[in-house]
Amino acid sequence: MLETDGLLKEFGGLVATDDVDLSVESGERVSIIGPNGAGKSTLINLITRRLDPTDGDIRFKGESIVGLKPHQVVQRGVSKSFQTASIFPDLTVRENAEIAALAAEHGEFGLNFLTHRNDLSSVRELAEETLADVGLLDRADTEAVDLPYGDKRRLEIGIALAAEPDLLLMDEPTAGMSPEETQSTVDLIERVKAERGLTFVLVEHDMEIVFSISDRIVVLNRGRVIAEGTPDEIRGNPDVQEAYLGG
Ligand code: ADP
Ligand code: MG
Repeated sequence: MLETDGLLKEFGGLVATDDVDLSVESGERVSIIGPNGAGKSTLINLITRRLDPTDGDIRFKGESIVGLKPHQVVQRGVSKSFQTASIFPDLTVRENAEIAALAAEHGEFGLNFLTHRNDLSSVRELAEETLADVGLLDRADTEAVDLPYGDKRRLEIGIALAAEPDLLLMDEPTAGMSPEETQSTVDLIERVKAERGLTFVLVEHDMEIVFSISDRIVVLNRGRVIAEGTPDEIRGNPDVQEAYLGG
């Protein structure tokens, strides 16, 4: 589903990702771990086209996406939760989900919708389904600004899901969450995987979560992939322990 080939990103003299070959199969859940500054967020932002690579290629479903704009990548089926300011605070939870569904079906800002006067019912349905998936239906009429922190993050996941992606990228989805919020986010990831067969690439610092939900783990250190394998393989890998787990 996703392949990066020799992906290099330099910021001035600093090499943030160094010759990264990442490959993700359809239906797989891949976690990317590594110390602070390892290049994890940079890698995610390259895939979503928020950043231009210095060199290398990114293929999604076999086609290079390096020449595409971020919204074109979304339309091909790659979505990322926690794009900053993805929530409209003054709108209700439901309105936020509807805008996300509208944008996904009709292009950024729903412009096609405005010109074609389509039927809104499919947008409403998709928004409703998405809110059910993220457990926010009972808060649908709450203004987003009034949601507790964990629910806001869930709404952000919902906004990403409303684009009906094939690949969902998440950069530290549980950061700043309470243990209960973290658990419900993990449950959400499990449920969405089971129901929608989504492919995930997850950046996560909580090792317990990483070991419990990943099919495969990729370890970055100073921009380079230093190990990859199943949770069991990574747990026992001495290079990983030295670079990351402090062992
Ligand atoms: P991680 O997410 O693994 O903590 P990042 O991908 O955020 O790491 O950062 C990797 C390296 O690239 C770090 O050294 C960071 O300071 C640097 N970096 C990230 N974004 C930028 C940027 N926009 N401009 C300059 N340097 C950056
Ligand atoms: Mg980061």
